[in-house]
Amino acid sequence: MPKLHIVVCVKIVPKPEEVRVDAETWRLDRGDARSEINPPDMNAMEVALRLKDHHDARVSLLSMGPPFFTPLLRVALAMGANHIHLLSDRAFAGADTLATTYTLARAIETLGDVDLVICGEESSDGATGQVPAGLAAWLDWPQITMVNEVTLDTTSATVQGRRELEGGHEVLAAPLPAVLSVQTAANEPRFMDFDLKPWAFAEGRATVWDQAALSADAAYLGIDGSPTQVSGLTEAPTRARKREMLEGTVDEMVTQLSALLARWEL
Ligand SMILES: Cc1cc2nc3c(=O)[nH]c(=O)nc-3n(C[C@H](O)[C@H](O)[C@H](O)COP(=O)(O)OP(=O)(O)OC[C@H]3O[C@@H](n4cnc5c(N)ncnc54)[C@H](O)[C@@H]3O)c2cc1C
Repeated sequence: MPKLHIVVCVKIVPKPEEVRVDAETWRLDRGDARSEINPPDMNAMEVALRLKDHHDARVSLLSMGPPFFTPLLRVALAMGANHIHLLSDRAFAGADTLATTYTLARAIETLGDVDLVICGEESSDGATGQVPAGLAAWLDWPQITMVNEVTLDTTSATVQGRRELEGGHEVLAAPLPAVLSVQTAANEPRFMDFDLKPWAFAEGRATVWDQAALSADAAYLGIDGSPTQVSGLTEAPTRARKREMLEGTVDEMVTQLSALLARWEL
């Protein structure tokens, strides 16, 4: 068994361009939207796989959501991850970030041997960026946020994360176990390995855990464990775009267009 155990938190999100807002209920209607791995989580995955390339490590995926997420997560197995853990139970439904992070943290504690948790910077749907910090708080582990390069020193059991600042960068170190969040677009996620693909989509290990498997306290789960209330939603006003229709022959329209563009000359 590899020495280091890295967990990457992966959220499955609806493709943004396919989500609609229900005009009556103001709820997101994801019914017809296809789902994908949250794009920033691919950057987190790449950081984990680069560490695995250089260390004796295994990479597990951790995700919370319905069972149909499993096939979508298998893409990450084909990139080089070792195991999927999906947290799926009706008791987890309606979770805000507090309840979500409690549930994810219970899973990390249940795994028991985790050295490093790596998250994306934020999700493309909720986009609070609260999950990495929430996990660190529940676990009482140090965190380094918004990193774009990561190194591990296994002798001193520390992780170093480099992050950009205005006009420079800083390198922060934390003792393991620790939580990291990775800056979006920090790297170029690798493509699936075609040798791994048959294993990843047929045999690759996917474990589904429910509330009982996590020995989780029901008071902290799902809607009961979520103090956040959505008190209202307002549609952003759309501005009608200014437009002018050109008419006539092609030559006439070119002349008209040239005159219109000339207004914008500096
Ligand atoms: C009152 C309320 C009710 C809600 N009810 C529901 C509901 O019924 N169903 C629902 O799907 N959502 C629900 N949500 C949204 C839910 O709280 C968020 O999806 C979740 O907490 C993650 O927050 P985020 O998207 O802002 O993640 P961020 O903090 O922006 O994500 C940062 C990183 O954390 C990790 N991460 C985030 N979410 C997950 C996850 N689920 N699994 C693994 N890793 C993750 C990823 O690495 C991600 O890149 C509800 C929110 C509120 C406020």
